[in-house]
Order: sequence, then C-alpha cells, then structure tokens
Amino acid sequence: CGVFGAYRLPQASLITYYGLHTLQHRGQEASGIAVMDQGKISIQKGKGLTIDLFTKESLKKLKGETAVGHVRYSTAGGQENANIQPIVARGLKEQVAVVHNGQIVNEKELRVELEKEGCIFQGTSDSEIILHNIQKEKGSLYERVKKTAAKLVGAFSLIVMGEDELIAVRDQKGLRPLSFSKMEDGYVIASETCALDILGLYEHTEILPGEIVRFYKGIVSRERYALPSFQYMCAMEYIYFARPDSDIESINVHAFRKETGRLLAKNDWIEADLVVGVPDSSLSAAIGYAECAGIELEQGLVKNRFVTRTFIQPTQALRDRGVRMKLSPIKDVIEGKRVVMIDDSIVRGTTSRRIVRLLKEAGAKEVHVRIASPIITSPCFYGVDTSTKEELIGARMSEEQIKDYIEADSLKFMSVEELKEAAGHVGLCTACFDGAYCTPLFSYQEKLEN
Ligand code: 5GP
Ligand code: SF4
Ligand code: MG
Repeated sequence: CGVFGAYRLPQASLITYYGLHTLQHRGQEASGIAVMDQGKISIQKGKGLTIDLFTKESLKKLKGETAVGHVRYSTAGGQENANIQPIVARGLKEQVAVVHNGQIVNEKELRVELEKEGCIFQGTSDSEIILHNIQKEKGSLYERVKKTAAKLVGAFSLIVMGEDELIAVRDQKGLRPLSFSKMEDGYVIASETCALDILGLYEHTEILPGEIVRFYKGIVSRERYALPSFQYMCAMEYIYFARPDSDIESINVHAFRKETGRLLAKNDWIEADLVVGVPDSSLSAAIGYAECAGIELEQGLVKNRFVTRTFIQPTQALRDRGVRMKLSPIKDVIEGKRVVMIDDSIVRGTTSRRIVRLLKEAGAKEVHVRIASPIITSPCFYGVDTSTKEELIGARMSEEQIKDYIEADSLKFMSVEELKEAAGHVGLCTACFDGAYCTPLFSYQEKLEN
C-alpha cells in the first residue's frame, strides 16, 4: 500500500491526489482521500485507480487544509469495501482518520482483546484494529497513538489525522518507508520520496524506525515511542516494490538495483550476445549487469503500459491471462541470439516461464535467466503479497528444478550475502529468503508450520 498526508495546505485534497497517483504502483485495488475541516471529516474512497475515482469536482468537495490518502493492495484483509482506507471514526467529540501501510502480526490478539471490550468491527483488515485501539486508549490523540504504536507488532507506516493535526509513525524495525518534506507553510508525508519530488520537494526527512512525528498547530515534533532496534527495511521495497526514482534510507532505488545487477554479473562467466531486462522493474538491474559483464544491453521486450501489474490481480486464472497481454518480444532483436534475461524476482515462476517461452518463440538461441534477488522460500507477513508457502516455487523446488520448470538454459539467483552487500549501511529484512523474521509471528506462525 501507499500512504500520503498533507498538513496545513490549501488544496490539500488535490495535493493528496497527486501524491496518490505517484504512489499508484504500491496498490491499484482501491484508493481514498479524507480531509479535515474544522473538526469534521469528509471522505471519498472506492475500488480502482486514483485517476478513475476522483474528478476535479469531487476533489473540490473535499474541503480542508489537512488530508490523508491511501492506495490499497490487499494482503491480510480481504477485498471488501469495508477494508478500503482511510478508515474513519466519527465520534461526537472527535473525528479521526487512519491510513496504514504494512501488516500487523499480532492483529488477532489485539482484535480478541478489543472485541472483549465491546468493539464491533466492520471489516477484516488490521488497519481497523489500529483505529479502534487508538479510540480505546486514554489521553490526547497523540498520547493514544503513541500507546497504540507501542502495542503493535509487525510492519506499519501510519498517518493519523485529527483536528489540525497529523501524526506519522513508523514501526520499530523500520520495515516500511515513510518520509516528509516542508511545503509552503505546511508539510507533506509520503510512503516514497517520489511522491514528494513531484511536488518540487527534494529535501526529505525520513521518519526513523520507532519514531512518532507530530504535526500540530503548525509545529513539528519528533519522539521515540520504542527503543532503537537493528533496522530491517524490507528488501523487496528495493528489489521490486518501490519506484526507481525514490530514495529509501538515503539509497536511491535505481542505484540499488543497478548494484544487484553488477553483483550478479561479477561472478558470472557466460557467453551471450545480449542482456534483456524485463520491463519495468528489472531494467535498472539489467543496466548494471550489462555494464559489468560487457555485454550489449538491448530492448528485447515491450510492455503494454495499460495493463496494470499482473501480480496484483488476485486469481491465478486472471494472472495467467494477463502476462501475455503485458509483454511482447521484439523479434528482430532476439532472433538467433544468446540472451541473458534479467528479472527482479521469481515468486510463483509464472512470469519467468512465460518470458523464456516468448523469447524462444521469437527465435532466441539460448535464454539464460538471472534473478536480481535470492530465491523466495518463505511467506511474507509484513505486507507484501507472497503469503502462502505453497504458492512459492522456491519453497517447493530446487534451483535446478526451477530452471527446468521455466525452461531456461541456465538460471542463477543472487545470494542473501550479495543482497546485503548491495544495501551497504542499510539493515534489511530478508525473511522471505532466509526465514529470519525480525518479530515474533503470533498466529501467523502456524502458516509456517504446515
Ligand atoms: P511470478 O510470476 O514468479 O509469480 O512473479 C514474479 C514477477 O512478478 C516479477 O517479474 C516481478 O516483477 C513481479 N511482481 C509483481 N508483484 C510482485 C510482488 O509483490 N513481489 C515480487 N517479488 N514480485 C512481484
Ligand atoms: Fe519484505 Fe520479504 Fe521481509 Fe516481507 S519478508 S518484509 S517481502 S523482505
Ligand atoms: Mg516484473
């Protein structure tokens, strides 16, 4: 998911719309904007892309100088409308809205506790639990958010909106990114820095793991609500999820991917004519590979820009249909050539298998697949949809078997060590590659054991 906040800005809803559109790659299922005006919240949310959902007129109706927005990609909760964010509490004394990116792993425990105390839930998402818990604690909104954050285990980048107030929080491990910038007399907050850049804001402040930042009465204050921990930034943010023009923990995502390509090539002595990256997320790694290997980089595949990321379409049948719609080989480039095909990751193996076939149909003599991440062997419980173990080809098959399955002439993944090398000073979560989860998993532990 992607979250966005605008504080003390005229046209807050329009700015949030631009922000969400820029974060659209983080979720295409649903989107929503809530604005605060003199203690009252107006909201518009629904299924679909931000550009399809909002119009000039509908944004004008969202009056107020403080706003939060969200683009959704469902992991824990299902796709029902009640799970679409922002989630709003309309108290008589106070109205509050919450947007959340990530996944809470002790949600079941918190939910049971809240239900015992009489809370009634409308949806199935963990984000609603956060809002209920905020309402249940005692003290100012800020105090309540702080107490809630300290109870949550897992991944969360949150923005909470109260009257003339935004509160931004990152989980203690720093699994999901969150940054803010000063804009005119106010502030904007975003999941990724690319959504700040498009507003002409190139100076970003990253919220720290375990930190809570309050934008209140025009002033920013920062505080820790949790003890400092080793950092576990989601490796998949760098590998696949984030936009290449974003910086995460001061490392540019494109530069990171290029480095993974370079590391892949470094110990790879392969005779080939061309390097081809799978658009769009693998192009940076392909550049790094080609540069280091001294093999020509070519555009061997064309992507239809109007097909949204196939992975996010929820059923296998849809996924199978989507891939062919999305990518086509350039026959003149491929024919008779020995091709190194670079992709960012293999989850189910569907994409790689399809593309190897496409390239062979286009006349490739050999296709050598190089993956700019390690083998995914374990599910993610922190907000990326690689959730069940059965779905992961790397959990069922060896590298050799995967090579045969995708019908490649050779296959190589990165090692976890190489991935960590690419991250330099940034501590990474690599749980989906090595099973080393950085938090207790509570009820999710069962999913690992069967
Ligand atoms: P597969 O086809 O093996 O199931 O998925 C891998 C492909 O899906 C890669 O080309 C990658 O770019 C794309 N992809 C789409 N969404 C995701 C995601 O959430 N995580 C990962 N690792 N890859 C994804
Ligand atoms: Fe990211 Fe993998 Fe960790 Fe999930 S398990 S947070 S996808 S690195
Ligand atoms: Mg891809």
